Amino acid sequence: MAKIKSIFCRNVLWKGEASSHSNALVSWKHICLPKEQGGLGVCDFRRWNVAVVGTYVWWMMDKKDHLWVKWVHCTYLKGLPWIEYKPPKGSSWAWKRICRVKDILLPGYVHHDWLEKDATYSISKGYKWLGSEANTVTWHSQVRVSAGIPKHQFISWLFVQDRLLTMDRLHKLFQCSDTACVLCRVADENHEHLFFLCP
Ligand SMILES: [Zn+2]
Repeated sequence: MAKIKSIFCRNVLWKGEASSHSNALVSWKHICLPKEQGGLGVCDFRRWNVAVVGTYVWWMMDKKDHLWVKWVHCTYLKGLPWIEYKPPKGSSWAWKRICRVKDILLPGYVHHDWLEKDATYSISKGYKWLGSEANTVTWHSQVRVSAGIPKHQFISWLFVQDRLLTMDRLHKLFQCSDTACVLCRVADENHEHLFFLCP
């Protein structure tokens, strides 16, 4: 379901329609990064799903006084430590999924303060932590001027990443014979020429 949602959003972004497919100029993973990290801040549904399942993992970590937690201890763990637990073959898909998410989120639970006194796990905290490995970019505030026109912001966002379909890129992709700038016809069209050098 998360994959289908992502495909619909991706199609709307690049083609304007959920059912139309086109090649993306920027990967979906990059688009889902926060704006400070160079993305568009679109929700990554797969990452969000992991963070949601992380709630169950945290209930287990925190030994919540919860009927489901008691049932899991009686049915699956049977005294085994949750942190090191591996699901046996033949376990249900849902249980294997929870255990897989536990392994993904384990560094966050152990090294973060979610397990400390008064600290709690939340889906938004988990989602943020799962995407925290990317570095902050210096250009995000220049691209996103508050009064800017969205289409101009989007073109600027593609420009700083060298992803606009200028003639030099089209030549690399499709071997176009004519790479001259369509505005002046005196030089090859690339990002630098189009934005800074074209007369
Ligand atoms: Zn030109």
